[in-house]
Amino acid sequence: MSRDPVADLRRIAFLLERANEATYRVRAFRSAANALAAMPGAEVAERSRAGKLTELAGVGDVTARCVAESLAGEEPVYLRRLVATEGTDLDAEAAALRAALRGDCHTHSDWSDGGSPIEEMALAAVELGHEYLVLTDHSPRLKVARGLTADRLRRQLDQVAQLNEALPEGFRILTGIEVDILADGSLDQDEELLARLDVVVGSVHSGLNDDRAKMTRRMLAAIANPHLDILGHCTGRMVLSRPAGVTGPGDRGHRARSRPESNFDADAVFAACVEHDTAVEINSRPERQDPPKRLIRRALEAGCLFAINTDAHAPGQLDWQRFGCERAARCGVPADRVVNTWSADDLVAWTHS
Ligand SMILES: [Zn+2]
Ligand SMILES: [Zn+2]
Repeated sequence: MSRDPVADLRRIAFLLERANEATYRVRAFRSAANALAAMPGAEVAERSRAGKLTELAGVGDVTARCVAESLAGEEPVYLRRLVATEGTDLDAEAAALRAALRGDCHTHSDWSDGGSPIEEMALAAVELGHEYLVLTDHSPRLKVARGLTADRLRRQLDQVAQLNEALPEGFRILTGIEVDILADGSLDQDEELLARLDVVVGSVHSGLNDDRAKMTRRMLAAIANPHLDILGHCTGRMVLSRPAGVTGPGDRGHRARSRPESNFDADAVFAACVEHDTAVEINSRPERQDPPKRLIRRALEAGCLFAINTDAHAPGQLDWQRFGCERAARCGVPADRVVNTWSADDLVAWTHS
């Protein structure tokens, strides 16, 4: 028994509006509803079967999928997710998620483009109540960020081992890297080192304008690499909005410039993340907010794991996890799907599995 797709789209728009979502996001559902309301039901069904709904002005991939689900008699997953979080206190949900986090899997020190020594970052993490901090300085090709050569990374590993001797009981620095995903999808560090590290975050920092097919291939190759554990800030976007007074060494003194999302096949990328057990990062930096909520929802539906990270470049920025938690809570991400709610031992057991 099929449902009324127009009613479902309008219901989604209503719930998004009530959740105070961005106007353009709501408009996508309202304009799709209007486009379909003007058309005989049989034609809507025929176009949906033929995959031709998106040829209509106002209908995009996400809305077309909702329509297909309605016509199949299912409550669209997008709607189901909104209904599931309806009436819950999002502030309380976000706070609960933040309270469940035991560590941070993406942070920088002054070994690359961070502003503080490793020890200061670690002590700030202890103050925040973390049980671990994964140190993920940049890889060699990212020269502007003083990416670490293999030799420097080896020296850093020695220093981390020393620091861990002196840090409070119950806390440790985990070793890691934010490795560049190169043009061909390979990772910018020696295999042997990547294998040694506790956590490998991989991010695209160059060629962000690659066309869709190339970017998708590149990301899929990186995700298939057994060393990659977390896919960092997957769209590479920069949004302008930033809370007043939020600056830090990692911002290199500039106001963030806006940058559009990279273009890739999100369904293929998230399916690969599930297949290869790679977590999708929810990057908490106010100027990144990456991925956007519509993609967090898609990754959630695909079955992905997540990591809610700060990408901190200074100690105070370690407290930015609440921004990521707010966005994750709005999308209904449950705590048990977030790898940094796990203990350090469980996290490392997962990255090495
Ligand atoms: Zn990065
Ligand atoms: Zn980073």
